[in-house]
Amino acid sequence: MKYLLILGIVMGVLWLLKNKRRLDRDEQTPPPAAKPRTGTQLTTTEIVACDVCHVHLPRSEALTGPKGTYCSAAHRQQAGG
Ligand SMILES: [Zn+2]
Repeated sequence: MKYLLILGIVMGVLWLLKNKRRLDRDEQTPPPAAKPRTGTQLTTTEIVACDVCHVHLPRSEALTGPKGTYCSAAHRQQAGG
């Protein structure tokens, strides 16, 4: 039992030495500076649903009528817009 304790202490000391060495090596080579974020601006696209068939599409592609938004001219006519 005494040897097990000594073995544990030795292993702990070795582990500490190993970590210390790794820390020293890390300090010698500083991590590269964080790159500034470029060109990652988010653009949001508003999604609307056709009032007739309820298909979802970007607002830029939707047709708007007096009664709502539609996916096509046919559906806009169908809705009476
Ligand atoms: Zn539609």
